[in-house]
Amino acid sequence: MAPETPGNEPQALSNLLQENRRFAPPAALAAAANVTSAAYAEAAADRLAFWEHAAERLSWAKRWDTTLEWNPPFAKWFVGGELNVAYNCVDRHVEEGRGDKVAYHWEGEPEGDTRTLTYSDLKNEVGKAANALQELGVGKGDRVAIYMPMIPELPIAMLACARIGAVHSVVFGGFSASALKSRIDDADAKLVITADGGYRRGKPSALKPTVDEAVAECPQVEHVLVVRRTGQEVETNGKDVWWHDVVERQSDQHTAEPHGAEDPLYILYTSGTTGKPKGILHTTGGYLTQTAYTHHAVFDLKPETDIYWCTADIGWVTGHSYIVYGPLANGATSVIYEGTPDTPHRGRFWEIVQKYKITILYTAPTAIRTFMKWGDDIPAKFDMSSLRILGSVGEPINPEAYVWYREHIGDNRCPVVDTWWQTETGAIMISPLPGVTEGKPGAAMRPLPGIDADVVDDQGNSVPNGGGGFLVVREPWPSMLRTIWGDDQRYIDTYWSRFEGMYFPGDGAKRDEDGDLWLLGRVDDVMLVSGHNISTTEVESALVSHPKVAEAAVVGATDPVTGQAIVSFVILRGTAEESADIGTELRNHVAKTLGPIAKPRQILVVPELPKTRSGKIMRRLLRDVAENRSVGDVTTLADSTVMDLISEKLPSAKSED
Ligand code: ATP
Ligand code: MG
Repeated sequence: MAPETPGNEPQALSNLLQENRRFAPPAALAAAANVTSAAYAEAAADRLAFWEHAAERLSWAKRWDTTLEWNPPFAKWFVGGELNVAYNCVDRHVEEGRGDKVAYHWEGEPEGDTRTLTYSDLKNEVGKAANALQELGVGKGDRVAIYMPMIPELPIAMLACARIGAVHSVVFGGFSASALKSRIDDADAKLVITADGGYRRGKPSALKPTVDEAVAECPQVEHVLVVRRTGQEVETNGKDVWWHDVVERQSDQHTAEPHGAEDPLYILYTSGTTGKPKGILHTTGGYLTQTAYTHHAVFDLKPETDIYWCTADIGWVTGHSYIVYGPLANGATSVIYEGTPDTPHRGRFWEIVQKYKITILYTAPTAIRTFMKWGDDIPAKFDMSSLRILGSVGEPINPEAYVWYREHIGDNRCPVVDTWWQTETGAIMISPLPGVTEGKPGAAMRPLPGIDADVVDDQGNSVPNGGGGFLVVREPWPSMLRTIWGDDQRYIDTYWSRFEGMYFPGDGAKRDEDGDLWLLGRVDDVMLVSGHNISTTEVESALVSHPKVAEAAVVGATDPVTGQAIVSFVILRGTAEESADIGTELRNHVAKTLGPIAKPRQILVVPELPKTRSGKIMRRLLRDVAENRSVGDVTTLADSTVMDLISEKLPSAKSED
């Protein structure tokens, strides 16, 4: 039965899904964990002192005077402090005798194409690149757009910018010329760093022609610095300079000047799932403090022994914070992989885990569901006994996907940390701690120490245990966005206007009977069925828990009887047959799992789902299909032909009651 609250207003968001599985931390991991439950008490007693301790893990040229200056909604952290982010990420490890330690094992997509960079190598490369940027006339505060494949020159370029105080704006290498142009314009970048191309799905994929098209309409761009990666033919024009000409001849010695803790570090445009991308601005001191601390705490990173791999693209915030800044600040050894998980075969990820003896793996639910669809036998062929911690980010992880990940990748040994955060928060905000938390499949569990997150109703009051509503953050945190680049008003309107004095990230959440947090997707996607607010996440998770379903996306479509009705799009598992009564079977399964209120009106079996290039399902396009409208803007889709495949399925999309 759907829980009713007789006599009360309907809840802001219904809590339907029950989950009883629990996974305690492995004893050995708990005994040696970097962070214990004491951290929660320490932060609760004095939040600012807690973040000061975290900041002391970095090397400061000048200590700050004021820990937090809070003029809501504008925060300044570690005011008066000075540090150099690149020095913290690279030089200090060399100075402290760790120059021979590997910073990055880089694995190109073509097999056998690898590079290894120690911290000394990285220091030399960043020094040369910093000298080259200065020779090209880039100085402190200037903006640099970076549009590159996943090659070592990408983090090197970012660190070179950070070193000289230039502000980088990394644009994901899959974006179109017009998307690149609008980001170059918005940030007013004077330099673009790119490559001829990169390898994707077994072949070179060009980048330079896209840059040429974009830059042709950007007169403010003075130079385009081009790395030769694939050796593809490249047209050059007056603005172009080759990396191997300009960077390679520089001295590898470069003095890192300290920058203010509140000087800008980078702008990153959000992925555009919900609307016009926003240029999220991050600064140096607070950002590096929280990315480094959370990487240390959530992944229990032991820099001497761990081999860490985050599979995200550096073009997204996950790559910024957990491939580049957090891991390097902690002196980690990381793996970077250039290509796709199915090249040259569907076991490539597990082959990489086996080859480098990865101990910590951080990936996304969309990837995990894809691996489930491909079959358990693929990971089973590889030795993954080195793994000890598994992470997830990007979307709510369905309980079935969590359990599959734990079992088939983690051999039921490794804790799974489901990390909630977003471009705007800069670093992880809500997550289990692997040595402390008894994990629940599908739950992000608790705000990290020092983070004051809550779930509130539409009046802004905390919901009791067992209740659902809106996720908010009540107090500023070190790595929070400072504003939207060039648009303080949009910053205020977007994040600080829904609830007085609280940051509103746009996500729904529930607090279960134990007080643990579950993320329920974006509030814009919530479905209003017969007066109940039902989250997409819970219905999708119920569908994915059916043995025949690999992936599911649900939307609310206008319905004359119920206001909105639930329309489901499902991809079947490789082995499942599409039978005539699959719709009835799945609808009954959801009704049984969540209650009759959540029973979908329709089930459409589809070959693919529309996803952004970061792998997130774009429900607004499915809503267009479900309501028989022409499909909206598809330019941020990874594959725009997917919508045609789905629309073809529509004639069979009749009501099944
Ligand atoms: P845009 O804001 O332009 O629509 P985006 O929100 O997709 O883009 P990101 O900042 O990369 O861009 O994504 C953050 C969002 O991803 C969060 O607000 C949340 O909806 C979702 N998310 C990330 N991690 C988790 C998680 N562990 N559990 C649930 N949701 C998550
Ligand atoms: Mg967002």
